[in-house]
Amino acid sequence: MRLLLVEDNVPLADELLAGLQRQGYAVDWLADGRDAAYQGRSEPYDLIILDLGLPGLPGLEVLAQWRAAALAIPVLILTARDSWAERIEGLKAGADDYLSKPFHPEELYLRIQALLRRSHGQANQPTLQAAGLHLDEGRQCVLREGAEIQLTAAEFRLLRYFMLHPEQILSKSHLAEHLYDGETERDSNVLEVHVNHLRRKLGRSVIETRRGQGYRFGATPA
Ligand code: CA
Repeated sequence: MRLLLVEDNVPLADELLAGLQRQGYAVDWLADGRDAAYQGRSEPYDLIILDLGLPGLPGLEVLAQWRAAALAIPVLILTARDSWAERIEGLKAGADDYLSKPFHPEELYLRIQALLRRSHGQANQPTLQAAGLHLDEGRQCVLREGAEIQLTAAEFRLLRYFMLHPEQILSKSHLAEHLYDGETERDSNVLEVHVNHLRRKLGRSVIETRRGQGYRFGATPA
């Protein structure tokens, strides 16, 4: 999953970037509201974390522009501590959730997980579930019929994306856009290698190849 972090406090942004990357997210970071208003619309993000006090353009204005442009991506706003007025204004402008500063990173991670599941029509259960698999996002491993299967960081990122999009045909370029940040070079051969590793661990039928179209996860065999 690819996230946009909009935060002008550099030490906080650095800390969040590192933490979110450890959670297996591809993250682009911006500090300026005007840049965010544009990039949030032009890149295919899965979720946006938006600070409200920003140079260039206030966060509330950025959010209002996105929603006016019918951008449906989940947005979590970061608000000043104890400012109920900011939280209400944020929710009115179209935020899906908020977190007051200072916060514990673990709370941010859990809220992101919940928002992503909800926005993909999945219940917020202790694990992400699809095709008989349970993905433990905290421990980055998969459980099937009680057995635990270990994953590398790259396999975890890919499997989480598949499990949030079961039975959908996903092209390699689409997957690459959602698994890598804007700075990382995208190599579809690498993606193929990770798909094959997942098949070796979870069974060939878990990910189907659609020639010329891409991959399909969790399809019931015909
Ligand atoms: Ca700020």
